[in-house]
Amino acid sequence: MYTRDIASLLSEQEAALKGQDKREDYRAQQFGGILMRVAILLEERCKPNSNAFAYLKKYSEMCDRDCIQVNGNKCRILETACPVCFTRAKHCPDDAVKIINLPEELDTDLTHSYGENSFKLFRLPSPKQEQIVGILGPNGIGKSTAVNLLSGSFTPNLGDWRNPSPQWEDVITTFPRGELRDYLGLVAEEEVRIAVKPQYIDKLPKIFQGKVLDLLERVDERNEVPHFSRIMGIDHILERNLDALSGGELQRVAICATLLKEADVYFFDEPSSYLDIYERMRMVGVIRELAEKGNRVLVVEHDLAILDVLCDLIHVIYGDRSAYGIFTPPRTTRTAINAYLDGYLPEENIRIRDKPIKFLRGRDRGMDVGTPILQWGDMQKKLGDFELKTGNGEVRSAEVVGVVGPNATGKTTMVKMIAGELEPDQGWCTMEATISYKPQHVNTDFDGSVQDWLDTELGAKWRSGEFHTQVVRPLQVDQLLQLRAKKLSGGELQAVSIVICLGKEADLYLLDEPSAHLDANARMEAAKAIRRTMESNEKAAMVIDHDIYFIDIVSDSLLVFNGLGGSYGNAEGPMSARKGMNKFLKDVEVTFRRDHESHRPRINKPGSRKDREQKASGEYFYLE
Ligand code: ADP
Ligand code: ADP
Ligand code: MG
Repeated sequence: MYTRDIASLLSEQEAALKGQDKREDYRAQQFGGILMRVAILLEERCKPNSNAFAYLKKYSEMCDRDCIQVNGNKCRILETACPVCFTRAKHCPDDAVKIINLPEELDTDLTHSYGENSFKLFRLPSPKQEQIVGILGPNGIGKSTAVNLLSGSFTPNLGDWRNPSPQWEDVITTFPRGELRDYLGLVAEEEVRIAVKPQYIDKLPKIFQGKVLDLLERVDERNEVPHFSRIMGIDHILERNLDALSGGELQRVAICATLLKEADVYFFDEPSSYLDIYERMRMVGVIRELAEKGNRVLVVEHDLAILDVLCDLIHVIYGDRSAYGIFTPPRTTRTAINAYLDGYLPEENIRIRDKPIKFLRGRDRGMDVGTPILQWGDMQKKLGDFELKTGNGEVRSAEVVGVVGPNATGKTTMVKMIAGELEPDQGWCTMEATISYKPQHVNTDFDGSVQDWLDTELGAKWRSGEFHTQVVRPLQVDQLLQLRAKKLSGGELQAVSIVICLGKEADLYLLDEPSAHLDANARMEAAKAIRRTMESNEKAAMVIDHDIYFIDIVSDSLLVFNGLGGSYGNAEGPMSARKGMNKFLKDVEVTFRRDHESHRPRINKPGSRKDREQKASGEYFYLE
């Protein structure tokens, strides 16, 4: 038997350390040899009483250059810190400090910094006349920051965070001559009119109390409230109060309010959140029209199918979450999304993920595998004015059923009946299966860290083994362990909730809109994690979602809803993925082709030759 002694442990550790040095060398090579160092403090991790705070306090007294400082409840690491203190800071517990080596050439490309040890943004995308420019990147990487800078909400400080009001003239001359510089000139001179659809629409009802119509009339510069509210499908809710709207309705009101502004440049920060695929396609139509009229449009979006059909060009942004983000030059939409899925940016020689994201072909999908885990027959449910009929169906072990359909047609209601939270008025549903359920709206009142929360819900299971490598790590939940559960962002909370749902022992896993608030990368990782869990444990899942890439990766079969939102809904299936996609997409009038390189589905431009041909032959979705 092989036993380890201290010497072998030591040499292993030495090798590991060398490996680390090699990685730094490798980065140095990638970046041309010279590196600039920055220290980023993640504030919420180094509050007083935290491990990190105590650690930094200890080291604040050890160097006579005061590189690390703790004053009152605030920690600080000097930009000019000595190498020893940088190394000390790097070993701060709970990943509260990130020490980042950046290529020196980026020094002149620093566009904005929120503070000494705060997030830094390098370079910027450039809005273009008559074009829709997309931004693609993970959460917390600086996309909204870029929207704020380009829309003139605040002026880029070029890293000089001490300067509270940088002068546009000084800023503009530092950008190379070209489109971006010209654009910033227009913003500085206030020669362009700008309209912004912000990311966080949930705040809208708090800022504006009143009816939808009052809000729209307040912002209307075109005198076209009736026209645009009809286009966005909100003309029937004009008399409702903002605080009584669903997420999807609120999003459409926000988009409508943006369209009503007579602007030259339009920004849409995550416009598809809460929308079903019908509404996403409608949104694509109206935004495309803006560009066709000659406006510049910039869009931040995580639904790759939508980003793909919407944009002319895409800037990928990469970096380190909460620490820094670097914008890359624009690529064509197809190249950008393929590179993003592949996980490698060839021009920059940057790897953004270890493994490519792959799409399954029809023949790779499970067909009639396993034994029935759950069956139902003609369930019916009336809720207020709404009525749902489910038809007959079953779910088998090792099967993932994707659930698709318009908003308010009863998807959540059906899942709640299966989960035993609602009784059907008529019909039946077998109830032997144990169920793990992630509801649509996740929130928690767990008072403690993510780590404690996971321990409480899952015991020691999440800490190691297959579940850790296949679920916890890909969803990057291992990086959130020290954070307070109550303080998580929407995307972080979603990721933890998915981990908790999948970590429980059950026969059937029900996940209601798991892609909400996740970035494109996390969505694809979540889809893979759900599949893997079902395949390796021979369990079944039902997954409601509106993101077609997510649905395509996750599903073996589909349960398709149709009906009239808010008044009635019918479920059909589960049926094969191919049949289900055809049925569903026919209702939406959208056709997909396969990308010949990445095999990802791509929405055909409405009315294009392929679109017309596929509609004629009834092949809305290519699986081969
Ligand atoms: P994204 O839109 O890509 O999710 P953001 O641009 O909103 O990211 O934020 C990027 C980073 O900047 C985040 O880590 C965020 O915490 C930080 N940040 C955003 N606004 C501020 C601010 N006003 N002050 C300090 N840090 C900020
Ligand atoms: P989906 O998940 O497809 O978006 P839901 O199942 O959440 O749809 O809702 C279907 C319809 O039922 C919606 O119009 C919703 O407003 C209505 N509804 C849901 N729960 C209730 C309830 N407790 N009382 C009255 N109406 C309800
Ligand atoms: Mg954002």
